[in-house]
Amino acid sequence: MAKDPCAGLDVYRVGGAVRDAHLGWPVKDTDWVVVGATPEEMRQRGFRPVGRDFPVFLHPQTQEEYALARTERKSGHGYTGFVVYASPDVTLEEDLVRRDLTINAMAESMDGTLVDPFGGMVDLEARILRHVSPAFVEDPLRVLRTARFLARYAGLGFSVAASTMTLMSELAESGELSHLVAERVWAETERALSEPCPEQYFRTLDSCGALKVLMPELYEHEGLEPRLKRMHALPEALKDVASWRWGRLLETLSESQRADLGQRLRMPRAYRELIEQLAYTRQLANGGADTAQSIMTWMESVDAWRRGERVGPLLSVLALDHPELSASVGAAWQAASSLAPRELVEEGFSGSELGRELARRRLAAISRSL
Ligand code: ATP
Repeated sequence: MAKDPCAGLDVYRVGGAVRDAHLGWPVKDTDWVVVGATPEEMRQRGFRPVGRDFPVFLHPQTQEEYALARTERKSGHGYTGFVVYASPDVTLEEDLVRRDLTINAMAESMDGTLVDPFGGMVDLEARILRHVSPAFVEDPLRVLRTARFLARYAGLGFSVAASTMTLMSELAESGELSHLVAERVWAETERALSEPCPEQYFRTLDSCGALKVLMPELYEHEGLEPRLKRMHALPEALKDVASWRWGRLLETLSESQRADLGQRLRMPRAYRELIEQLAYTRQLANGGADTAQSIMTWMESVDAWRRGERVGPLLSVLALDHPELSASVGAAWQAASSLAPRELVEEGFSGSELGRELARRRLAAISRSL
């Protein structure tokens, strides 16, 4: 049998895996910390180096991540401004103290012994997200991470410790948030949008003043709460719930505000498109008149003829506040989409003439359905 690459190594399960196992939350992936080893020794044991900024290795069989214990010292702005020191003399406790929250700063040895120097288990049982040390303020990403963890665990009764909120507010005021790269902000936001309580992410960022720095558009036209309420109320059957939640949050923004925010956060195209479609659907509802022309215009703006699969989900959202309008647009869609361009070709239409005639008949079909 092949030799166990970890045999004789001082190795600990750390971070999210320890936290989630104790919370009874599904453990996604397990991270490990190795104390007292050198990169050379890890390579000799068959581990594959993958870390760019610090020594991390993949286990040759499980492919799980094994990081050498390391310390970090602040050297510049933002998430990447750290000097990393990894050496066999770095202790487990020194590695744990650089972590963000006490519930993320616990380790477990191979025999299951808990190493918990910062009271993570007490906080976990008391359902508190608390910073490990004042060095929390050295990385602005931790503001977003803390808000995201609340979006995940609020249903279990978690809240953010008052002292941690104070540090988050200090970070928001310090200007450090502006050093976060767009991709990091978006990655945390997208993950938060998929969590069970995404509104907690935005409320927490609002309370500490980070939201108005990162996404000032969310305060335009209406307050944050009506947006969160809309985001919360979505039909259960929708797929890709994160993008629908995000779309509901932003659908009342003007076109230029949507463009500004989209560009600043480098929002993926699918998200941008869905916000546009929801904004058009909103315009249809606000237009008041469910005339054949306004319904036809809506179908064109959401590209319904080519992307018919968009119509059902959008109408299910429209039905939340405007059930009658949703039903009549649904009937109009049934009528208009049953017209086959092929039949017009058989009647002798072609080129631009075909396009005009198809549009005319679709409009007539919508009119008849109302
Ligand atoms: P998730 O379930 O969301 O992946 P996780 O805790 O496993 O949660 P990772 O981003 O994989 O999150 O990070 C692993 C561990 O590394 C965390 O538990 C935490 O101890 C530490 N960590 C990650 N990012 C930071 C950070 N920005 N500042 C401090 N510690 C961090």
